[in-house]
Amino acid sequence: MSTVYEKIYEYPDEDRETLLSAYRYAEMQHEGQKRASGEPYFTHPCAVAEILIDLGMDTPSIAAAFLHDVIEDTNATAEDIRTYFGGEILTLVDGVTKLDKIRYASHEEEDAENFRKIFVAMANDVRVIIIKLADRLHNMRSLNFLSNERQQRIAKETLEIFTPLAGRLGISQIKCELEDLCLKYLDPEAYEYLVTNIHQKLEQRHNMVDFVVNELKTLLDESGIDGEVFGRPKHFYSIYRKMKNYGKTLDQIYDLSAVRVIVETIDECYEVLGKIHKQWKPVPGRIKDYIATPKRNMYQSLHTTVVTNFGQFFEIQIRTREMHEMAEFGIAAHWKYKEQKISETGFDQRLSWIRDVMDWQGSLNDSKEFVDSLKNDLYSSELLVFTPNGKVISLPLEATPVDFAYAIHSEVGNKCVGAKVNSRIVTLNSALHTGDVVEILTSPNTKGPSWDWLKFVKSGSARAKIRQFFKKEMKETNAKTGRTMLEAEAKRRGYSLADLLTEESFKKLSNKLVFSSVNEMMASVGYGAVSVNQVICKLIDYYKKEVPKPAEVLSNDKIRKPASTVEIKGMSGLLVRFAHCCNPVPGDDIVGFVSRGRGVIVHRKDCPNLSGEDPERLQPALWTGEGAEFIAGFKIIAEDKEGLTAFIIAEIAAMHLSITAINGRLNKEGQAEFEIKIRLNKRSDIDLLVKRIKKDRRIIDVFRTTN
Ligand code: MN
Repeated sequence: MSTVYEKIYEYPDEDRETLLSAYRYAEMQHEGQKRASGEPYFTHPCAVAEILIDLGMDTPSIAAAFLHDVIEDTNATAEDIRTYFGGEILTLVDGVTKLDKIRYASHEEEDAENFRKIFVAMANDVRVIIIKLADRLHNMRSLNFLSNERQQRIAKETLEIFTPLAGRLGISQIKCELEDLCLKYLDPEAYEYLVTNIHQKLEQRHNMVDFVVNELKTLLDESGIDGEVFGRPKHFYSIYRKMKNYGKTLDQIYDLSAVRVIVETIDECYEVLGKIHKQWKPVPGRIKDYIATPKRNMYQSLHTTVVTNFGQFFEIQIRTREMHEMAEFGIAAHWKYKEQKISETGFDQRLSWIRDVMDWQGSLNDSKEFVDSLKNDLYSSELLVFTPNGKVISLPLEATPVDFAYAIHSEVGNKCVGAKVNSRIVTLNSALHTGDVVEILTSPNTKGPSWDWLKFVKSGSARAKIRQFFKKEMKETNAKTGRTMLEAEAKRRGYSLADLLTEESFKKLSNKLVFSSVNEMMASVGYGAVSVNQVICKLIDYYKKEVPKPAEVLSNDKIRKPASTVEIKGMSGLLVRFAHCCNPVPGDDIVGFVSRGRGVIVHRKDCPNLSGEDPERLQPALWTGEGAEFIAGFKIIAEDKEGLTAFIIAEIAAMHLSITAINGRLNKEGQAEFEIKIRLNKRSDIDLLVKRIKKDRRIIDVFRTTN
């Protein structure tokens, strides 16, 4: 009988019943299945459940741990779980099952998408991630049964994704064990070296640690403070990292073990710190007050390194019992101490971090960018700076005044025009340092953030908020563009937009195209989500029903006249069409492609789709006349958006050409990108238009698109 079974028996009746039935159900379902180690498969869910029991997680989480592999690996269905165990447990099992399906491939974009999924799952119910962490911990513990290649892959992925998550959620117990296990597989030599040598060193230092512990115990006794003192070796990975990062040898690392003092109150923490410093000299720069300014994962403690009587350095950590529990269990303490309500603030703050991430992830363009920002937030060490009122703001390393401004409020960021650091004016891209007092200068008249800011901001939330600003701004620009396009098109067809677009006709139109406001419709047209023709034709339809007009007005309506303007050498009477991929216009060098059963398709000679085609099916083709109208697509890349759309439209209008679609967006470099389709009937117009647009300094590039 496994120990987990015994542990279940200690639960109160109702919980015990749930846990026992989950246990038995999983045991039955996994019957006959084996792990790579040869053990029955069921030992795995049991081990995962036990980790969660030891963490103090709630009953639904433990039940879900027993059941976490049944949907994926056995005949059990989600419906079965719901029937037997209810919706809450099903949600947890389902969440873990979905996370299990994620393959953390080497492919970057995919990897990024998975990261996003983890966050979605976590935001829905953070217990899913805690169960997943326990699952991963047990898998890491039994990694030695897998092939070397899988060991490497799993350990790498654990170190990249799961240990930072455990750290950010403050569950240092799981984080430390996972890190040590990763080290064992990723750098086995270093791991072996540390195991042997640290053990020896600790032996040698054993007396020293005992001495310090005893001294501290006496100190507590004499001060009448109730507390606990113990020495604890640091985990291998943290020593390994120190040696690597600072290029130190094992001998140069003096805090192989930390001595901890656990007391009741915060006052006592400071009192003990004072008394320790009175007895032993503190090493300058090594005193850290994480009680006044907790780490981002809510870790709290006082740290100091002192020189003891024998000239040895010792790190001492002082914290309250509650801080100690929070440091060990992190977010999991929320369930462990549910009755005592000691951990609500920490819990809320940790969750608020997850919610924050979810919040800004929506406004980032792609998964890659999201993950880059997130990794920045997860891995970078932190920077603590102050507002002029003394409020502490924590930011990623190398953050700038702009990051600071957005961390205070998005409006402060958007209105930011300058900054003072320690009362001196600095540039907005200068790096902040811990301890800086930062003051943001704002102006109500500023036009908002600058594109350049995206190049230097370090925090994901600042980046997201800047992008959000531009997105909104672009919406207004798009609405203006849309109106101009509709007006022009209406005019071209002999109407005026003011006549066509009435409250009545808009109502009818919005039934069909679902716009909530005229402005939204304009923006959709401007953005290219809806075509000008679609809107204008409908409006004209409504208009004509009200005020009948002669049909000739619509004679201009055909985009393309019949294709008699092209002559295919050696053929006649064939169905001739224009390729959509390259949209040839009169004047382009063209060639006819004889398709099977679909007549002749006319391509531009340089159309990439033609390469590799059988030359026998290509026929020389010539333009035979003018007058037919064609659509040509352009891409315009420009530096700045200010008044740019108006400029482009004005240039096109000046040539008496008409726009059939326009689509503006921001690319990753922060440049404005427009895709425009224009109706024209002369090849020479294209070159002229490109020339005219290019002469503006803000334009980076203009080129013809092939589709
Ligand atoms: Mn599992």
